[in-house]
Amino acid sequence: MIEKIEALFERQVSAWPMLAKGVEGLERAETRRVRIDWYEVFVRHIPHRVSSTTAAVDRDSIERRPCFLCTANLPAEEEGLKFSDDLTIYCNPFPIIDHHLTITHREHRAQRIAGNVGGMLDLAVVLPGHFVIYNGPECGASAPDHLHFQAGSRNLFPIEKDSARASGFTLPGYGRNVFVIGGRDRSAMIDQVERAIDLLAAVTAKRGEPMINIAVFHERGKWIAYLFPRGKHRPKAFQTGELTVSPAAIDLCGIFVVPFARDFEKISGADIAAIFREVTLPDEQFQEVVAALEVQR
Ligand SMILES: [Zn+2]
Repeated sequence: MIEKIEALFERQVSAWPMLAKGVEGLERAETRRVRIDWYEVFVRHIPHRVSSTTAAVDRDSIERRPCFLCTANLPAEEEGLKFSDDLTIYCNPFPIIDHHLTITHREHRAQRIAGNVGGMLDLAVVLPGHFVIYNGPECGASAPDHLHFQAGSRNLFPIEKDSARASGFTLPGYGRNVFVIGGRDRSAMIDQVERAIDLLAAVTAKRGEPMINIAVFHERGKWIAYLFPRGKHRPKAFQTGELTVSPAAIDLCGIFVVPFARDFEKISGADIAAIFREVTLPDEQFQEVVAALEVQR
């Protein structure tokens, strides 16, 4: 699959100007390393992310626009690679990381993780050296109305180094609340991820899906999944116009996207740590889920 994806990128970069421009934009992107306590974040200045960072995802705006993930609305040059009967892999024309892919469902159906954890794990298996992500409909997905995942190279994947410090389900003292779930058994992985999501829904008293971002990778027969339970969508600094940032799975994994140069210059490690704390689930609720998970183990 990796060779096929490599070939897809080569074909698409020459056939599809929008992708060529995105790949070029990523090559030019400046990256700055910021240390926060014991972990590291890479702040990346990517101007072409501005429309995703500021995307209107309220119901009205979504209903008014044509869905950009539906096959019928794709640019004529865009070519996909079939992964399964349901999922097709495309090159993401607004990349944050190398080999940035969007994997979409063939049907226009809501962004929901229930029933789709297995598909995510299977994608991780055929994409060694990559991570697969899911952004919930109210926390990062710019198409909350069309089921999709993203994937990308793990060459730069700061959280992976940090997870050496994982204790049980969590990363202590991390500044962002995250569950780390690892295992070799596909159905046990699905059960654990789904159980954590159910507990989150219960603790946050949310009907339907709790706000969540997920990242997963597969290496030497083992999956590692990171679940970031969210407390809110965008930080206050976004609302006030102080910083144009809207963190989703990739940011929470440690590649923090800023579309504007002025933010790239001024944002500090302390700002990022505060944003992580602000948008992930508050400690008290997080600890409640951790306790429930540990009882159920
Ligand atoms: Zn659609």
